[in-house]
Amino acid sequence: MITLTYQYKLKLNRQQIQEVNHIFDVCKSVYNYAVSERKAWLNSRKSSVNSCSLVSEYIIPADAPYPNYFYQAKNLTIAKQSNPNLKSVNAQVLQQTLKTLDRAFSDMKSKGNGFPRFKKQMRSFVFPTMLKNCLAQSQVKLPQLGWLRIKQSRDYPTGFEPKQARIVKKATGYYLMIAFQSQESCPSAPVGKVSLGIDAGIESFVATHKGELIKAPKFLLKAQSKLKLLQRRLKHKVKGSNNWLKLQNKIARLHEKVANTRRDWHFKLANYLCDLTDNIFVEDINFISWSRGIVRKRSLDSGIGQFINEILPYICWKRSKFYLKVDKNGTSQECSSCGNHTGKKHLGERVHHCQFCGYAAPRDVVSAEVIRNRGLIAVGHTVNKIAYGDVLTGISQGNLLNLVKCQ
Ligand SMILES: [Zn+2]
Repeated sequence: MITLTYQYKLKLNRQQIQEVNHIFDVCKSVYNYAVSERKAWLNSRKSSVNSCSLVSEYIIPADAPYPNYFYQAKNLTIAKQSNPNLKSVNAQVLQQTLKTLDRAFSDMKSKGNGFPRFKKQMRSFVFPTMLKNCLAQSQVKLPQLGWLRIKQSRDYPTGFEPKQARIVKKATGYYLMIAFQSQESCPSAPVGKVSLGIDAGIESFVATHKGELIKAPKFLLKAQSKLKLLQRRLKHKVKGSNNWLKLQNKIARLHEKVANTRRDWHFKLANYLCDLTDNIFVEDINFISWSRGIVRKRSLDSGIGQFINEILPYICWKRSKFYLKVDKNGTSQECSSCGNHTGKKHLGERVHHCQFCGYAAPRDVVSAEVIRNRGLIAVGHTVNKIAYGDVLTGISQGNLLNLVKCQ
C-alpha cells in the first residue's frame, strides 16, 4: 500500500473561514477538556491511601476507570446531546482530536515525550473519511464544509484514492493536506552495485563515505539568523500590543519560509544522493533522544531527522534505489579501515586517527564509511574495495569477510 500526501492552499471565503475557525475552537475545547480529565485522574492517584496530597487534588473514586480514548469518546457522544456547540462540528473530527491526545499520551510512555499540554491554539484537524466524488478541478468537497476552492498547484495522482483530509492553519493561510492511497504494493528496490554510506554529521549536515561533507546552504543559514534577530526584537515589544502582533506574524511567516526552503533543499539533496549510487545506507538514530543531547539546537534547526527518516526513503523509493538503516552503535568509535575500537571521541574532536593502523580522516567521513561497511555486510555483499592506497577498507578482525582485491 502506498500513501502520498499532497498539500494544496485553500482559497476560503469569509464565511468558510469563520466556519473553519469555529471547528478549530471546538476541537481545542474538546482537547483541553480531555487533557484536564486525564490529568485530574492521574493526579488523584499520586498520594498513598493513608495520606493527603500537599496540593489540592480532585478526589476521584478508587474504582473510577482511567479516561482512555474509548471512555472519552463515549462521553463525547453523550455530551453532544446536551451541548449544541459540540453538535455543530462533525463527530469524526472531534473523535480524531481525542485520538491525537491518546497518541500524545502513549508517545509519552513509549518515546519519552513530555506530558501533553493544554493547547492555546489548534493548528490542524482531520476528516478521517472522505465523501464520494469529492475531487474536482480546483475544488474539494469535505464533510460539513462542502465544496472548498483550492489552488491546484499540482494534479491529483492517478490511480490513487483520497483517504483523509487535514486542514492546517499556517501563517500564510489555510492549507489542505490530502492523503492519497493506492492498494498496489510497492516492490522494494533490489540491491544494486554501487553503495553509499551516509552519516548525519555534527559538523556538516550529512557526510558521505566518499569524503563529501555536505553543509546546509548559505541562504538557509541566513534566513535562520534573521529569524533569531527578529525573535530577539520581540522581547522589547509590549506583549499583546499591535507592534508585538505584527512582529509575531512576521516571525511566523519567516518560520514557514525557512521550513519550506529547507524541505525543498532536502528533496534536492536526496535526489543528488540518489544520483550517486544504487544503495543508500544510513544510521538508525532515534533523533528525538539525539537532539536532547549536546547537538540539540543544531540538529533541530537542520531537520536532519525528517531528512533521514522521511524524505530520503521516499525519494529512494521513487527512484527505485535500495535504502537501509544499519545499527548505529559506535559508528564514531570504530575505525573504518581496520575495524578496531578506537575509543570515545569528544564532540570537538574533528579528525579520526586510528592508533592501530594509523588511518586518519575527518570524523564524519569515517562514520559514513563504517555505515557503508555495515550496510554491505547486512545485504550480504563482501567488502571488496581498495579505497585508500594500500589500506583495505572494511576488514574487521571480528568479521569473517572474504576480501577480494579488485580494481
Ligand atoms: Zn584502524
